[in-house]
Amino acid sequence: SSTTYWALVGVASVMGVLMTIPIGGADMPVVISLLNSYSGLAAAATGFVLSNNMLIIAGSLVGASGIILTRIMCKAMNRSLANVLFGGVGAVAVSKTSADAVYAGKVKASSAEEVAMLLETAARVIFVPGYGMAVSQAQHAVRSLANLLESRGTEVLYAVHPVAGRMPGHMNVLLAEADVPYDELKDMDEVNPMFAQTDVSIVIGANDVVNPVARTDPNSPIAGMPILDVDKSKIVVVIKRSLSPGFAGIPNPLFAADNTLMLFGDGKKAVNDLIQALKE
Ligand code: NDP
Repeated sequence: SSTTYWALVGVASVMGVLMTIPIGGADMPVVISLLNSYSGLAAAATGFVLSNNMLIIAGSLVGASGIILTRIMCKAMNRSLANVLFGGVGAVAVSKTSADAVYAGKVKASSAEEVAMLLETAARVIFVPGYGMAVSQAQHAVRSLANLLESRGTEVLYAVHPVAGRMPGHMNVLLAEADVPYDELKDMDEVNPMFAQTDVSIVIGANDVVNPVARTDPNSPIAGMPILDVDKSKIVVVIKRSLSPGFAGIPNPLFAADNTLMLFGDGKKAVNDLIQALKE
């Protein structure tokens, strides 16, 4: 009857909200993908009720692909699905290191000219894109800089973290749009051992996916998430507009590391400045 229907709608809504609010920080993409998968299951169930084969098939496809993606992302963050869904319930507030304590007096700002000089002598450069590359639409500029470096004999690679950006495959889509050669795209497991033999890593608009705190602080919201080990390369250049945090809302000690240079500015503009400086 209609009262049971509305009661069910009410209970489902309350449950939906209560189940998702404790889940925060870097776990959000996993939940989005899981809910996507549920929508497929709901469509398939509707298909059975309406005897509609099309709905059953399409719903099953969405449901299955969503759950596969959820699994891949859980693996990428080194967490179980149960831990993602229920880990936030009753958890004590996570440690919030103050940004001042991490950055004060330790951050070195650089210039396009200085970075260009480092690039001139580099044998291998790895680009590490993140959400900020998407915001500033810098992918074409990055490709031009890569072309310029390759024309001078530098080896160029791109390191793609599974949850960089704001949706699965975000960086792959952007880099494909800029026609980056497929064999230069490296995923996390493949590229991490290579950073130690890398002269310059250029982090462009990435933050959480290169935050070493994930390795060191068990109370951090990104604890245990595998990261790209850019801090192992000889020099790290970080392009972003300020010291403000990324999605997880925590400071990043990488920006204060001895081998890190900050190149403050909009992603696309900073890369274009680098191209200009390298040509001069
Ligand atoms: P982050 O969100 O950690 O950081 C992005 C950085 O980009 C910010 O610190 C910001 O710094 C910088 N930025 C913003 N605009 C610009 C600009 N115009 N030019 C240059 N830099 C800019 O990004 P990551 O990719 O490293 O990490 C992704 C995060 O999002 C992870 O925590 C992940 O879990 C989460 N997430 C991922 C999803 C996915 O499926 N991929 C979905 C939902 C969340 P500043 O303001 O100083 O410029």
